[in-house]
Amino acid sequence: MLLVTKIFFKVNWIMSMKKRIIIFGATGSVGMTVLEEIACYKEHFEIVGISCHSNIECAEVIVRNFSVQALAVTNSQIVVPQNICEKIFRGINGLVTMVESLEFDAIVVAIAGVGGLRSVLRGIERKKVIILANKEILVMAGELVMNLAKAKGVMILPLDSEHNAIFQCIRGDNRFIRRLWLTASGGKFWNQDRQAIENATIAEVLQHPKWSMGKKITVDSSTMANKGLEIIEAMHLFGVEPAQIEVAIHPACMVHSLVEFCDGSFLAQLSPVSMKYAARYCLFYPERIDVQEQSLDIFQLNELQFFRPDFEKFPCLRLAMEVARSKQSKRIAYNAANEIAVELFLKEKIALQAIPKIIEDVLLKVENRDYSTVEEILAVDQMVRSKARQLAKRFNI
Ligand code: NDP
Ligand code: MG
Repeated sequence: MLLVTKIFFKVNWIMSMKKRIIIFGATGSVGMTVLEEIACYKEHFEIVGISCHSNIECAEVIVRNFSVQALAVTNSQIVVPQNICEKIFRGINGLVTMVESLEFDAIVVAIAGVGGLRSVLRGIERKKVIILANKEILVMAGELVMNLAKAKGVMILPLDSEHNAIFQCIRGDNRFIRRLWLTASGGKFWNQDRQAIENATIAEVLQHPKWSMGKKITVDSSTMANKGLEIIEAMHLFGVEPAQIEVAIHPACMVHSLVEFCDGSFLAQLSPVSMKYAARYCLFYPERIDVQEQSLDIFQLNELQFFRPDFEKFPCLRLAMEVARSKQSKRIAYNAANEIAVELFLKEKIALQAIPKIIEDVLLKVENRDYSTVEEILAVDQMVRSKARQLAKRFNI
C-alpha cells in the first residue's frame, strides 16, 4: 500500500511539472501553431527560449506574452532592443549557445533551412528531446543526427505531419514495416496541365489549396520537392529503404500518411488540415491530452481518394527518388540547389519550371560520396550553393 501511494505521488509530481521548451523559429508558421497550442495548455509548459531570424517585433510580442527569458536572433543584421528580455543570443551560433546555457527538456525545431544543424546536434548531446518540424537538416545530415540520437538514447519526435502520422502508427517500433505511404496534397498543380506550371506566377504558387505555411515550403509543395525531401526524411527517421517508400496524392489532406505492415494490415492517422494535431501530439508525448472536442465527423469522409503521382510532370519527385538511393553528397546537393532555386523564383529571377532543371544540373556536377563530420557536410552545402547560383544564371528571365 505504501509503495502504491509513493508511486501515485511520484506520477502526480511528474505530471504537475511543466515541460520546459525552447522554440527555434517561433515567429514562423509552425512556430506559431506550437505557440497557440501551448497557450491553450499553459499549465503544462514553460517556454524558456525562442528564436527568430528577422521578425523582432513578433518575437517581442511572444517574449512578453509567454514571459520568455531568452531570445536568439539569428540574423546578425537586425538591431535588437537591449531590454527585450533577460538573455539575448546573436547569429546562428547563438542557437548553439542558447542550447548550451539554458535548462530545458525539449527543443521545437521550426526554423527554415539548414542553419540549425549544429544546435540540434548540441541538443542531442545534452540528451534533450528534439521535436523536429524542419526536414532540411535530416536531408542534409540524417545519418549524423540519427546516429547521435541513437547513441545518446534521445527521442526525435517528428512534427512534420506525414512523419508524425507514421510515428503515431508505429510508436517507435519499425520492425514490421513493409511500406510507408506518404500522402501529399499534390499542391497547386497536381491535376493541372504542364502549361499551368510553365505559366505559374508567384501569387498562384503561394496560394496553397489546403495548407497555410511559410513561403519556401509552399513553393516546394507546388513542385513536389517537399514530398521529395520528405521521402529522404522518412528514410532517416524510420530506418527504411527508399524502395519501401511510396507517395500517394490525397487532395483532401485528412489521412496524413499510412503504414503498410508485413502481415498485410494498414494503419493510418487522420485529423483535420492543421499542424496543431501533430504539435499537440509531440508536446504531450508520451501522454495524450483530453481536449473534449470532436475534430472530425467521420460521416463526412465519403471521398477519401488517393491518386498516383506523375513523376514526369513533377521531376523534383523523380530526382528525389534517385537521390534517396544515392549517397549523402547528392542529398545535400538536392536540398541546397532546391533552396537556391526557390529563393531565385521568389525574387522573380527564374520560372517555376526551372527549379527541377537547376537541381538536376547541380546533381550532375556533384560526386557520389558520404561524409562523417559536420564541417565536411557544411562545406559541401556551401560549395553546392555557389554552384547552383552559377548554373541558375542560364535560366534567368
Ligand atoms: P516560415 O518561413 O513560416 O518560418 C521560418 C522560421 O524560421 C521563422 O521563425 C523565421 O524567422 C526563421 N528563419 C528564417 N530564416 C532563418 C535562418 N536563415 N536561420 C534561422 N532561422 C530562420 O517556415 P515554416 O514554419 O513554414 O517552416 C519551418 C520548417 O518546418 C521548415 O523546415 C518546413 O519545411 C517545416 N515544416 C513546415 C510545415 C508548415 O505547415 N509550415 C509543415 C511541416 C514541416 P523570422 O520570422 O524572424 O524570419
Ligand atoms: Mg509534411
